[in-house]
Amino acid sequence: MEGAMAEAPRKILIVEDEEDIRSLVGYNLEAEGFAVVDASDGERGLHLAAKERPSLIILDLMLPGLSGLEVCRLLRAQEDTASVPILILTARAAELDKVLGLEMGADDYVTKPFSPRELVARVKAILRRAYGPANERPHESYERGWLRIDFDTYEVYRDGEAVGLGLREFDLLKFFVRNPHRVFGRSQILDLVWGHNVYVEPRTVDVHIRRLRQRVERDDTRPTLILTVRGVGYKFNPDALEE
Ligand code: CA
Repeated sequence: MEGAMAEAPRKILIVEDEEDIRSLVGYNLEAEGFAVVDASDGERGLHLAAKERPSLIILDLMLPGLSGLEVCRLLRAQEDTASVPILILTARAAELDKVLGLEMGADDYVTKPFSPRELVARVKAILRRAYGPANERPHESYERGWLRIDFDTYEVYRDGEAVGLGLREFDLLKFFVRNPHRVFGRSQILDLVWGHNVYVEPRTVDVHIRRLRQRVERDDTRPTLILTVRGVGYKFNPDALEE
């Protein structure tokens, strides 16, 4: 297990048989920090709704097999999913009265074709209404063993104590945390952390690694977290956090 997100991102279930729309919507939601699961038919959608416990369901009305209306009704009828917000996707306005009425209780709708921006805005508005503003976008963080990082506030804690990191050291740490167990050479690290168009000596990496170790290692003379791989470069060893 790698470090889990301290607060999981909100999960959205998309039930839509058109693959293009499914991936477009999924892509745009993920870009906004949501976790996405999807289903191409109603049966699978119901199964995932019960299993994945999404915070919101985007439901297409025109589905093969079980229709969107039936899916909506079944979601509302089951205790587990009775109160999960539902956003309807539809090309036809005719069925909307029914689906938005008390009988079905969908929360909102978007008619096709729609802009992904508009859809994401609707999703956020419904989530805000259902769960309150604080839940719209949880702080992104990393927590494992004796290390905690808040990526939004740039705070890093070692054994519960705040350690001040320079911006570059913070970026380095973030990079390592997201790429555990992999060995990176100095020039790779320069490319990936500093960027392609920056001219700096590869030795610069060593300087920043040394500073980072001084802050986050328990004993920087014997690093266990950011390891030197002789002749190659460095790697991040999250297992050391459990020791
Ligand atoms: Ca459809």
